[in-house]
Amino acid sequence: MRYVRFGALAVGFLCLTACTRTMENASSVTDLAEVSVFAMDTYMYLTAYGSAAETALAQAETRIAELENKWSVTLETSEIYAINHSKGTPVSVSDETSSLLRFSLDMSEQTDGALDCTLYPVLSAWGFTTGSYQIPSETLLAQRFAQTGYEKVQCNGSTVTLPEGMQIDLGAVAKGYVGDLLAEQLRAQHVTSALLDLGGNIQAVGTKPDGSAWRIGLRNPFSEETFAVLEVADLAVITSGGYERYFVGEDGETYWHILDPETGQPARSGLASVTIVGQEGRRCDALSTALFVMGREKAEALWRQAGDFEMVLVTDTGEVFLTEGLEDVFSLQQDYADMPTEIIRR
Ligand code: AMP
Ligand code: MG
Repeated sequence: MRYVRFGALAVGFLCLTACTRTMENASSVTDLAEVSVFAMDTYMYLTAYGSAAETALAQAETRIAELENKWSVTLETSEIYAINHSKGTPVSVSDETSSLLRFSLDMSEQTDGALDCTLYPVLSAWGFTTGSYQIPSETLLAQRFAQTGYEKVQCNGSTVTLPEGMQIDLGAVAKGYVGDLLAEQLRAQHVTSALLDLGGNIQAVGTKPDGSAWRIGLRNPFSEETFAVLEVADLAVITSGGYERYFVGEDGETYWHILDPETGQPARSGLASVTIVGQEGRRCDALSTALFVMGREKAEALWRQAGDFEMVLVTDTGEVFLTEGLEDVFSLQQDYADMPTEIIRR
């Protein structure tokens, strides 16, 4: 069986589900360390093998806490909080924060604004920031919508200037970036086999200790089940979907947490979930959110143009479209063998 190799390092496999992680035969492995943390509004499960694993995961946990403290929207001491409450005055931030913000703004450009880190005021009008869900009135939506627009954010060196009334939230890219930073840290500590599950954002370091690939389960957006498996090594596998956070309004419609920055409404592009596979977690994370907004046609066009990622799209009518680079490593689960599947070719 083959697995995806994007880099020279790829040798093995990993096994996992976007939401429920499954570990294979852990008892046969001696040096196995596991950590689970609740951070960035999500449950994270970190698994690493080898003699350096335990210390490395303890440090990874500390690192997650540090990053959450910088990027939390609600923590009054965070750098994002300082930006959001700066009333238009310039704020000096750490290199990590300015680099993530710059990355997010750059990805907004690359996706024609489908990714927009300034939607927080609109997300909160819908209640997605608190869980007190509601369909906002047109007046409120229009008022909040006027406070958005990534092109109004200035980030020069380590100084960020945000117009008064606007608020940013890097939630659509932060976990991918955390995955990259943790993977880098683990590799520097000579960990050659680890699986980082950051709430559906999967980052694989090296291979499984036995040299086999990791199996990443993809969640059926219409149920809790895994509909397919991807076999990969040393890659990020990141999914965005409406099912992750949503509510049903009094009108019987379903409203989810990924918004179309052009309308301030939940993005209805015909996609139910988007999974991106690539080397950089941050890029996969940005793309999964953006392509969910953009829809299949634009996603395909971007895939052709970019050439550095692969994807699995599930439409809201239950069809699967996957790019040709995943053809040999993607398999439907037995119960889903009849799911209509099409390969997107260059
Ligand atoms: P993800 O799970 O990476 O797709 O990120 C989704 C989260 O990003 C949502 O829960 C919102 O907080 C925020 N968000 C929603 N729509 C967008 C968008 N179009 N661009 C950037 N962030 C968004
Ligand atoms: Mg994302």
